[in-house]
Amino acid sequence: MAEYEVRVAEHPVCDFCSDLEPRYLEDCETYEAYLWSPGMDPSKSEYIGHSEGAWAACEVCHQLVQARKWHQLERRAVEAMQRKHPDIPKNRIQKGVAIIHDTFRRHKRIEDINP
Ligand SMILES: [Zn+2]
Repeated sequence: MAEYEVRVAEHPVCDFCSDLEPRYLEDCETYEAYLWSPGMDPSKSEYIGHSEGAWAACEVCHQLVQARKWHQLERRAVEAMQRKHPDIPKNRIQKGVAIIHDTFRRHKRIEDINP
């Protein structure tokens, strides 16, 4: 069974789309994310960020995670980021979100929905 649990998250916002009412936690390992592409010198990878444990999720993002609708989840996160940071170029946001979501998919602990 999935290990996520339904409860009020400690985080104030959804970790995917910044919704103000996250109601779920998507269980995930703590990890460090790096910008890296195949064939690239690993020592030149760029540090993206640190993810501490479970991700808070709102109703919509939780449903998308459950349904493995990764493309829709990414698009939702990109749109939310664009509203929040209209000064950052869209392709930069898309790249950042794609990396963060890819690492989430690889580190999440929900066994029955592994890709
Ligand atoms: Zn959300």
